[in-house]
Amino acid sequence: MTGLLADLQKLGRMVNQDDELKKLVHFETLKEIIYKNETFPIFSFTIGSNNPEHPTLFMTGGVHGLERVGAQLAWSLLKTTIDRLVWDQSLKELFQNIRLVVVPLVNPVGYYKFKRSNGNDVDLMRNSPVISKEKIPFLLGGQRISKKIAWYQGTKDILEEENAALYTKFFESCKKSKCILAIDFHSGFGMKDRIWFPYSYTKEPFDHVAEIDAFTTLFEETHPYHIYKIEPQSKGYLLNGDIWDYFFLEMRKVNPDAIFIPLTLEMGSWTWVRKNPWQLFSKQGIFNPMKVHRLKRTYRRHHLLYDFLLKALRSHPVWSELDSTNKLKHLNSGMTRWYE
Ligand SMILES: [Zn+2]
Repeated sequence: MTGLLADLQKLGRMVNQDDELKKLVHFETLKEIIYKNETFPIFSFTIGSNNPEHPTLFMTGGVHGLERVGAQLAWSLLKTTIDRLVWDQSLKELFQNIRLVVVPLVNPVGYYKFKRSNGNDVDLMRNSPVISKEKIPFLLGGQRISKKIAWYQGTKDILEEENAALYTKFFESCKKSKCILAIDFHSGFGMKDRIWFPYSYTKEPFDHVAEIDAFTTLFEETHPYHIYKIEPQSKGYLLNGDIWDYFFLEMRKVNPDAIFIPLTLEMGSWTWVRKNPWQLFSKQGIFNPMKVHRLKRTYRRHHLLYDFLLKALRSHPVWSELDSTNKLKHLNSGMTRWYE
């Protein structure tokens, strides 16, 4: 094993060889994907509380294999967290009350073979059974015309192995949580880093518009100079088969009282390309910073957000358990901000 998977395996071994870390971190292989006689494991790390009701952050990267920086960012945040758990008492205390699940590389075949899709040419972010209520962009919104064309959704109502493994892990760790945040790292075109929340399948307002408005307000007050544009995915374009829409709708059935907000971080890649136009000629260059210093800057850039997500979960009642006056206030504010 080489590259990122080797780094992840090394991190897992380090955890398993350390008696103290082993109590705090659980390293697992969720699934082994076989592709042309090679084996590609999907690893997960679970850190913190075993109490099923405790709030959970579910962090993923590498769903689109070509967007490698997302998986590398997940690894970087995970590595820092585990390194800090060795000495940082405050972090240990934080994790007594919350749980973090990280699946840094959901689509290892795509990552190693420089493909957006998985080994079966399926776009994992178009593969869920959710169907858009409104008109989607031709092809981009998901298609079943041909697997040779991008955005191929795969067989109707059948989750690909990677998504099935993610589904099992997600519901196993979050099914009883009172409050769940997910963050999925992607990169693509655009100048700005965007944070999307549901839905992708309809322009209708998200169920938890009041809570996401309270959450966003808190983030803006804490970090007035933050770099993100926060908005519903439906502001961009609609699509079929979004996996987070699917998990959200499924969660509503099994745990209707939970506040679950799946976020997608879409890192704008135009700044990397603008500073280094040669990247345009490389298949992965459009989606990833190619210079080491720019990659390191990308890691640093999102630590603030990561730290906020953990702290916001620990103090989640502030934004996820609003009284009726505040609920109405944030509902109105959220509707004005995002849906007018
Ligand atoms: Zn993506």
